[in-house]
Amino acid sequence: MKQPATVIAHCDANSFYCSCHRVFEPALLRMPVGVLSNNDGCVIARTPELKAIGVAMGTPFFQVRRLMEQGQIAIRSSNYPLYGDMSERFMSVLEGFTPEVEVYSIDEAFLRFTGFPVENWEAQGRAIQQKVGRWTGLPIGVGISTTKVLAKLANYAAKHYPATGGVVDLTDPERQKRLMAITPVDELWGIGRRLAPRLKEQGILTVRDFANLEPSQAKRQYSVTEERLVRELRGENCLPWDEEQDGNKHTIMCSRSFGLPVSSEKEVWEALATYVSRACEKMRRQGKAAAKAQLFLRTDPFRKDDGQYHGSLVLQIPQASASTSIWLRETHKGLKRIFREGYQYRKAGFVLLDIGSQTTEQGDLFTVRPPSQESSKPELTDVLDSINNRFGNNTLKVAASGNKPARWHMKQNYLSPRYTTQWSDLATVRCKL
Ligand SMILES: [Mg+2]
Repeated sequence: MKQPATVIAHCDANSFYCSCHRVFEPALLRMPVGVLSNNDGCVIARTPELKAIGVAMGTPFFQVRRLMEQGQIAIRSSNYPLYGDMSERFMSVLEGFTPEVEVYSIDEAFLRFTGFPVENWEAQGRAIQQKVGRWTGLPIGVGISTTKVLAKLANYAAKHYPATGGVVDLTDPERQKRLMAITPVDELWGIGRRLAPRLKEQGILTVRDFANLEPSQAKRQYSVTEERLVRELRGENCLPWDEEQDGNKHTIMCSRSFGLPVSSEKEVWEALATYVSRACEKMRRQGKAAAKAQLFLRTDPFRKDDGQYHGSLVLQIPQASASTSIWLRETHKGLKRIFREGYQYRKAGFVLLDIGSQTTEQGDLFTVRPPSQESSKPELTDVLDSINNRFGNNTLKVAASGNKPARWHMKQNYLSPRYTTQWSDLATVRCKL
């Protein structure tokens, strides 16, 4: 078979939140596992075993409490510092395979290989899967093809058909056709819940039926989004490649569209908390800090029948910081100010601004420092972070942050340790001699 010039791999961690817990508690590998929303409200992540016993997304915790107490299932509070850190590790393993990595969400990324002389893409996919497994402990699926949409489709097959072992090479056009013919159209990435029934009414039942539409027809009948999907399925790259991996930027943005519209403040906050963790981890990796950030949320501008709202707010803290807990607290306060009930939200984001800038704010404990260190930056927060990292959150805190604990109050009765971001929470290994 002729080698395609550009190959795209889509990597996705299986049941990401739950898998993070399993890495540090191997006993959970033999149990159905679920993760709760903030305040231990409801189930927001499940392993396939938990799905299989009928626990739906959003099930209130009290309904599964008994099963947990009987030891039939394991439940954990959400642990965003752990997920953010595991995500960073996952992504950095991927970066070892190609310089072109586009992080799509906390547990998903696209890898682009341009002009790589790879003989066997399936073997390449397995190598990625193995390395991520060995270096992070996370199980992942890998779908490989020539466009993003096809790579996503390949990964759908990798998940759906256990015989694939979680890796599918879909670079061969014949193979693409065969898979499309047996895949229901609503499994295709980008086909919304509203569109699927409409397509089915029109006799478009499989992905192949959809791919057989003329692009111009798809545009006329549906929209430019569907036209692009059709083109991508035909092997034409038309989704943009997002280059946000530049380490020298003065801003770090973490924002994603939600898979489904979200209307409750709690759910928006859950998404935001993840983005804040990720952005702060990234900033710390660059050894920088920020005193300013922007937070936004908005409805879907394409859903004209729905009410529209766009809220945004600049957050400012007195002392530049890269501390996740400080930014989480500020973001939570900010969200309270801009959130409005009664809208269907589609996207939220958190952007750290003026990264690396120093603050001239006075009045905290560390303002006086030896002249020899005057040029090192961003000085104080580094000290703060490293002391807090070493001895636990809030060992030291900026006076301006007041007497409130920096980790804002959440109900987290089943919280696991922050294995990878807190010295005091490191896992202990015991062995018999
Ligand atoms: Mg996943």
